[in-house]
Amino acid sequence: MAAQETVEQKYVYDFSEGNKDLKDLLGGKGANLAEMTNLGLPVPPGFTITTEACQAYLATGREPDGLAGQIEAHLESLERAMGKRLGDPQDPLLVSVRSGAKFSMPGMMETVLNVGLNDQSVEGLARQAGGSTGQAAPGGNDRFAWDSYRRLIQMFGKTVCEVPGEEFEQALDKAKSAKGTTNDLDLDADDLRGLVDAYKKIFLKHTGREFPQQPREQLDLAIRAVFESWNAERAVLYRRQERIPADLGTAVNVVTMVFGNLGPDSGTGVAFTRDPASGAQGIYGDYLANAQGEDVVAGIRNTVPLQELEQLDKTSYDELLGIMARLEEHYRDLCDIEFTIERGKLWMLQTRVGKRTAAAAFVIAGQLVDEGLIDLDEALHRVNGAQLAQLMFPRFQLDHEFQPVAKGIGASPGAASGTVVFTSARAVELAAEGKSVILVRRETNPDDLNGMIAAKGILTSRGGKTSHAAVVARGMGKTCVSGADEIDVNVPAKRFTVAGQTVNEGDVVSIDGTTGKVYLGEVPVMPSEVVQYFEGSLDPEHIDNALVRAVHRIMTHADGKRRLAVRTNADTGADAARARRFGAEGIGLCRTEHMFLGDRRELVERLILARAPGEREEALAALLPLQRADFEQIFREMDGLPVTVRLIDPPLHEFLPPLEQLAVNVAVAQERGEDVAKEEALLAAVRRMHEENPMLGLRGVRLGLVIPGLFAMQVRAIAEAAVIFARGGGVAKPEIMVPLVGAVQELETVRAEAEKIIAEVVGDSGVEVLIGTMIEVPRAALTAGQIAEAAEFFSFGTNDLTQMGWGFSRDDVEGAFFWRYLELGIFGISPFESIDRDGVGRLVRIAAEEGRAARPGLKLGVCGEHGGDPDSVHFFHEVGLDYVSCSPFRVPVARLEAGRAVVETGGSDSR
Ligand code: ADP
Ligand code: MG
Ligand code: MG
Repeated sequence: MAAQETVEQKYVYDFSEGNKDLKDLLGGKGANLAEMTNLGLPVPPGFTITTEACQAYLATGREPDGLAGQIEAHLESLERAMGKRLGDPQDPLLVSVRSGAKFSMPGMMETVLNVGLNDQSVEGLARQAGGSTGQAAPGGNDRFAWDSYRRLIQMFGKTVCEVPGEEFEQALDKAKSAKGTTNDLDLDADDLRGLVDAYKKIFLKHTGREFPQQPREQLDLAIRAVFESWNAERAVLYRRQERIPADLGTAVNVVTMVFGNLGPDSGTGVAFTRDPASGAQGIYGDYLANAQGEDVVAGIRNTVPLQELEQLDKTSYDELLGIMARLEEHYRDLCDIEFTIERGKLWMLQTRVGKRTAAAAFVIAGQLVDEGLIDLDEALHRVNGAQLAQLMFPRFQLDHEFQPVAKGIGASPGAASGTVVFTSARAVELAAEGKSVILVRRETNPDDLNGMIAAKGILTSRGGKTSHAAVVARGMGKTCVSGADEIDVNVPAKRFTVAGQTVNEGDVVSIDGTTGKVYLGEVPVMPSEVVQYFEGSLDPEHIDNALVRAVHRIMTHADGKRRLAVRTNADTGADAARARRFGAEGIGLCRTEHMFLGDRRELVERLILARAPGEREEALAALLPLQRADFEQIFREMDGLPVTVRLIDPPLHEFLPPLEQLAVNVAVAQERGEDVAKEEALLAAVRRMHEENPMLGLRGVRLGLVIPGLFAMQVRAIAEAAVIFARGGGVAKPEIMVPLVGAVQELETVRAEAEKIIAEVVGDSGVEVLIGTMIEVPRAALTAGQIAEAAEFFSFGTNDLTQMGWGFSRDDVEGAFFWRYLELGIFGISPFESIDRDGVGRLVRIAAEEGRAARPGLKLGVCGEHGGDPDSVHFFHEVGLDYVSCSPFRVPVARLEAGRAVVETGGSDSR
């Protein structure tokens, strides 16, 4: 028998047995109730049924062996401790049955209060609650008992038996209007007794049975309902959206009831230990006298600010402030709490490390360092790049005159105002007239792509964070609010209705892609203070701005910690200058293709159309000084820092007009009897150069090998610019990068030619020019050991590597089916957004290892868009790259995350 006992799994933990680190097993609520109990705070006694019990129940459809007995044992010891028995007709012990998963899922799962009440014990409760000090509301303590009972039937009915909640609400409203009031406090004991009858009838009608009178049956059914609420539809959807694993299950907390509805000297409230919006220190909370738990959030009556509790009950107020300070010190972070006061006695019902805005995250981390609660490493750990990125968007300047009319999901951050349109075509039309438009749809589909590109923002009434609209908008960096379901969109009628108002095509709305809020009219937009700081126009030492100071401090720490250098992708002097202000330590990718656009197109056309070598050389000779001037400007902006220049990459026909346009030009010119020789030649060239798969066609190094003199001209322009800058006293560090190499032979050929030119140009100027390659074709990654023989550096082009690694044509797939892949969970995030560690990441790892083995000291960087993605930056740190390069606006994010990567790996260099 003893042996049998030792094998039985432990499914139930008394609050005194757990602690805050047991969230996996006890859920967040249970683990923190245990922690508070062990701190000696006033928590009503109780116990937690583990997530493992829930998992077992959900897997088999029945309670696991041993659970019932363990509940019985814990209930008995609870009864002993309280000196009451569950549902005792004379003096009942009542409990709440509360869900609580590892990750908080606000409002997703269920809680039942007052379990243990029935037709007898309600009388016992009334008698027991009598005779004490409370100045009872009308009806005295009878009132309280019947109020508690009607709440039980309501919550139990709704949660456990799926009785539609509105029916209870309606019955309550009816009782109030019969009494001629809107305040539930005006209902006396008799009214509530009547309400209990009405509730019981509703219960019977929907379930076909009487409301269960057995306390233990109530308890068991409530526990089971909480288990099952894990798989309720809304919980499943929420988890999918928030990427919470589906198999965690919820714990169940059984907690002795304490009563905030005993009279005016009782009440219930919620509070934060500091402002979760701004991070400011102070007292933030709401209190509601003579009420039970959920009334505060349900907005049944108007709450008062927590400060007013000081007048109502100074002892409890002071005790509460003391506990809040204690919790902050203990958790070393902002906490939110739920509490109840029963006749002047304070009870703590919940705490957790509270959610906060991005701004508050930085401010609070800074404050906690000042208060000596955490060090700077910890502060760095507690903020993240996604929050910093949010703070770099312009924001709406919201004063009270702007009230949101709807709230959806903040699907892609930013603030956008514009004219409402309902079709893609109209969006394109108005955008062409220079108007800002907001495309409003029920949901978008791949046909809306052009409209989405034209719009400033996208608003949908359906769909979550992985809907088509959300995914595509994020990919484009466009503001998007999705799933604003209060909005009723009528596309054919070109209008939507919301909050009783009609918005027609042509009206202006404003959407906040960070908060998900929707406003009517134009809300003024405010630039980001954090960007102003990065740009150097706000001095953190001399302004009174807690956010800017905190960002400055944490960024400085990140810079001191990080091993990865951060460079930028910049094609112009202006971009380079801005990125340098944002902290870029060089250019990791300077694309040269834009240097062939504008009025230089004509030269490119001559190059393409050249028949004799002389013509081609002429065109190249004309391009050379123009390119040289471009590079000079970039070297100047990046004085002293490395500049990686990529030789021309895209297929040349991208520089020619599209086929259709040329065909029209030729036809028109012929009609008018004009000379069409050049047009015809271009048309012929475009036809000749047409490719079915240009991304896999004549581009990158292939161009350099096929078109004589093209790369040579670029190499010469780079070297000459560097020498001119160096002779003028500057320091140029050019790195020439060859794109799309798949075989070392390609690189060797380019290199041989380039080295000759460089030697000739550089002479004794002291300029050193490195030659390296992109690693962006899977074959290059797999033969990196050979390629390293001819390369002084590798730069991973993770966009192409992802494209070719997965066989996804980026331009086609994101809009076409990624939303579906995300919905199905094939990947959790687009592999173009965050590096696919297992596949594409493995190619990076192989190339880094084999490249370094072949050439120790080989410089390694990344220049795909992943260079600015938080999770990818951590990966590149782990793989041991030397730097990441990203767009100027992402530079601060990469700096922060590169620092976080170090503190998260325990400060060790993981190379
Ligand atoms: P949620 O996770 O949705 O906040 P809770 O389990 O915290 O749900 O409970 C809902 C409300 O009921 C809260 O306001 C809570 O404080 C209150 N409550 C829960 N258990 C008790 C109890 N034993 N005594 C008094 N109030 C309770
Ligand atoms: Mg709660
Ligand atoms: Mg590429």
